[in-house]
Amino acid sequence: MRQIHPNALIQRTSEQQALFFTENGKIIVRNDSPLHPLRETLDRCGWSVQKAYEDDLVLMVQIALLSEELEASLEVKLMTPRDCFLLIGDQSEIRKKVLRAAHWAVATQTLQFCSQCGASLKKVLDTTEMKCSQCQCSFFPKLSPAILVLIRRKDEILLARSPHHPPGIFTLLAGFIDLGESAEDAVHREVMEEVGLKVTHLKYCGTQSWPFPDSFMLAFTADYLCGEIKIDPNEIEEASWFHRDRLPNLPPPSTLSRRLIEDFLIAKN
Ligand SMILES: [Zn+2]
Repeated sequence: MRQIHPNALIQRTSEQQALFFTENGKIIVRNDSPLHPLRETLDRCGWSVQKAYEDDLVLMVQIALLSEELEASLEVKLMTPRDCFLLIGDQSEIRKKVLRAAHWAVATQTLQFCSQCGASLKKVLDTTEMKCSQCQCSFFPKLSPAILVLIRRKDEILLARSPHHPPGIFTLLAGFIDLGESAEDAVHREVMEEVGLKVTHLKYCGTQSWPFPDSFMLAFTADYLCGEIKIDPNEIEEASWFHRDRLPNLPPPSTLSRRLIEDFLIAKN
């Protein structure tokens, strides 16, 4: 992703779409869409452009922070990248752009200074690399691999909720992969730590970028093997077996958790 000079945006065609960000990483949403016509939006709103980034996939424009009043008068919403992603649902083309832009917004906020010598970092053209201006040490946007697992027990699945989930929403178990672990090791460990169960027949089911702030999810299904549910109260508020016909409130359709649950429901019908 390369940084482009704000003046270069003047030469862009009127059809080009862009994602607009505020200084603190919020995405600007209008009419439930995060993509806006670049020229028309800049002309109409009079926003001053601070930075702009572009690659084959996405044009991102960072503007000065909007005030609450401005937000209301322009009929736009400021959304966190995560809420914006949940809003767009299964619009796959926009989804990829929002995820890439969200990850880049996190990286530009967090990668500012060298962890070796403290000097400021400079962007390397046409890559996601940041280089120290003093010691030349390289830094890249962080990507933290994590697992997600749907555990089956006949017609039931195990769903849980942690304190950071919205009230009433139950979802699949998830956790970060530890140093030296395989993804499969992490599934066995997380399931044992969080709910005290043993599982078997792990099957890989796909991935999803989850840059809120920097996760990369690897999904599995597994069959229950043995054990009684015993939750880790530091991680989990509640966990239970749910019959396929009596599921609780689930995560939104754009999430990988929801896709795995839907696949489970389809598989036996
Ligand atoms: Zn340095």
